[in-house]
Parts: sequence; C-alpha cells; structure tokens
Amino acid sequence: MSSSSTTRTRPPYVLARAEVRAVERVSPSFVRVTFGGDELADFGTPGDVFDARIKLVFPPASGILPPVDRDTDDWWGAYLAVPEAERGSMRTYSVRELRANAATEVVVDFVLHLEPGLTGPASSWASAAEVGDALLMVGPRRGREDRSGIEYEPGSASQVCLVGDETAAPAIARILEDAPRDLRGIAFIEVPDAADELAVDAPAGVDVHWLPRGDVAHGLRLIPTVLDYLGEAAGTEIVVQDAEGEDLVWETPVYSGLGEEISSVDGGADRYFWIAGESGVVTTLRRHLVKGLGIDRTQVAFMGYWRRGVAMRG
Ligand SMILES: Cc1cc2nc3c(=O)[nH]c(=O)nc-3n(C[C@H](O)[C@H](O)[C@H](O)COP(=O)(O)OP(=O)(O)OC[C@H]3O[C@@H](n4cnc5c(N)ncnc54)[C@H](O)[C@@H]3O)c2cc1C
Repeated sequence: MSSSSTTRTRPPYVLARAEVRAVERVSPSFVRVTFGGDELADFGTPGDVFDARIKLVFPPASGILPPVDRDTDDWWGAYLAVPEAERGSMRTYSVRELRANAATEVVVDFVLHLEPGLTGPASSWASAAEVGDALLMVGPRRGREDRSGIEYEPGSASQVCLVGDETAAPAIARILEDAPRDLRGIAFIEVPDAADELAVDAPAGVDVHWLPRGDVAHGLRLIPTVLDYLGEAAGTEIVVQDAEGEDLVWETPVYSGLGEEISSVDGGADRYFWIAGESGVVTTLRRHLVKGLGIDRTQVAFMGYWRRGVAMRG
C-alpha cells in the first residue's frame, strides 16, 4: 500500500481552542479581542482576508467549553454531537486582522449591544472578556487557497461602494486595508455613536463616511445617505422592511438565498456593491437598488449579518 493511501487528508477547517491574549475597548460600541494559542498554529492562510467569516463558540453558563471533537472533517456534526446543555452558543464574526505566523493571532472586533432584552451570549461574553478566557474558533486551515468564507468579489469593477452598519464595520475595514492601493470608490458605515469611528487605512481613492446614528432608528442614517448618493430622488419615503422568518438575506453575485437564477459571475460592470448589516435594513436597500434604481443584482452582494429581535444559531 502506498504511503499516500494511508495518509489521511487533513480537514479543510481548523476547529481550535483560542485564548484571549489582549482586550481593548476601542470605542463606546466596539471591543477588540486578540486571540492566540497553540491550536491556532494551522489557522488561516497568510494574505488577503477581506470579509472572511469565522465561527466562534462561546461557553455555556458553566463557563466550560464544549468537548467538541477537534480532529474531524465535520466540525458542524461534531458540534451538534455535544449535548445541547453543554454546547454553548455559536455565532459568526469577521476577521479584523490575521497575523498568520509562527504564533498565529486573530483579532476580532465585537459590537457591544447590551440593552436588556437585546443582548446575546456573544456580546455579553465580549463585554466581560479578560486575558486568559477561551472560546472555540472555526476557520479555514492554513494553505487553503479557495477564498473560504470570503464573499468580497469585485471582479473587474474599477469602483466599489461598501455599505454597512457597525457589525459590518470590521469587514469593511479589512476589505479596505487588503484592497489594491489604486482602488476607487466610497464606503458608508452607520455606527451608534460619533466616537465609534475607527481608524481604517483605506486606499486614497476611497472616501470613507462614518454615519453616527444618534437617536434615529437603525438604518435611517444609512439608507437615505446611500440612496441620495445613488441619485434616488430626495424625499423618497423610507420604510425599513421587517424581514420575515429567521433567515438572513443572503444574495450575492454567485449565490441567491431566494433561489433566484444567477445569470453571470462577472458581468463586467464597472461598479461593485457590497452591502451588509441588519437583515431588514439590507433587504430595504436591496429593494431600492434592484427594483427602484435598476442596479443589476449581479453587481451587488447583499448580506444580512443579524436580525432585529432574533438570536442567531451559528
Ligand atoms: C458573515 C458575518 C460576519 C459578522 N461579523 C461581525 C463582526 O465582526 N462583529 C460583530 O460584532 N458582529 C458581526 N456579525 C454579527 C453577529 O454575528 C450578530 O450580531 C450576532 O447576533 C451576535 O450574537 P449575540 O449572541 O451577541 O446576539 P444573539 O443571541 O444572536 O441575539 C440576541 C438579541 O440581540 C440582537 N442583536 C444581535 N446583534 C445585534 C447588534 N449588533 N445590535 C443590536 N442588537 C443586536 C438580536 O436581534 C437579538 O434580539 C457578523 C455576522 C455575519 C453573518
């Protein structure tokens, strides 16, 4: 028997115990957590990360991390095999920074949404995180070159329009820092507070607009600003759609959560839109862009990152 037939292919994902190495309250609404640890040695491929998503598993009330089998091809099945009471909670996050070297570090920017009744295990965990705490992290294994978990795909477009709320701010910041320095375009980021404007090293040709929400409802700074920029008549009535069901809207040039036909991957359009945030806000923008302004859906990635009133399940 040849040695290759006895060597097991390594799983495409790493499921690792990640320890908190640093915690920084970077603004009123964001806490930046740096994770490290031996089990991250094979985590993530050095290079551009863009909007790569990872899964984080937060411990249950006992504080004990679930005993998930880490040496498996099927991390989701291994997670579900743990009894529910011990499983903790899984949520999706973006990689704000990947330092993939001998001692790999992964940086995540957590939004703190702590209002009673509107908080969840991830936000609560982040608000109390201390050096030495641990969680489980799922992401692509080092060496994978298939852009696993990355949706940002501007194709041949020479301009981008990046739109999001605070949950999308880490991904937008990463996209702008990984983008070619000659990229042109604009970014609109709605955040709770003026002090939530974070430092981003964007290409000189991309204007970054931070939109403090203040007292208005979620999305009501972002939507009119984007529509105004795109030339939709001022005074258009904005009704933020209350998306139905528990699913997040997820419509990209290569995938349709609604089952719509995908006509082309790169239609050669000159402007690429990337839109993420609260699902109802994203759905509302989708309606205006695709139905109102006639923008081809193959030019836009529309991604719900969370849903008002709905706890995520992974
Ligand atoms: C691809 C992807 C990347 C993401 N990247 C990031 C990231 O880098 N940083 C980040 O902070 N989030 C990010 N998110 C969003 C994050 O996964 C959700 O906000 C998640 O719901 C947080 O989990 P939780 O346990 O705190 O709240 P849950 O238990 O999921 O929800 C509990 C309650 O909190 C409300 N809620 C959830 N999020 C918010 C919020 N931001 N503001 C106000 N209320 C909220 C829910 O509507 C619900 O009522 C990302 C999501 C996706 C899909």
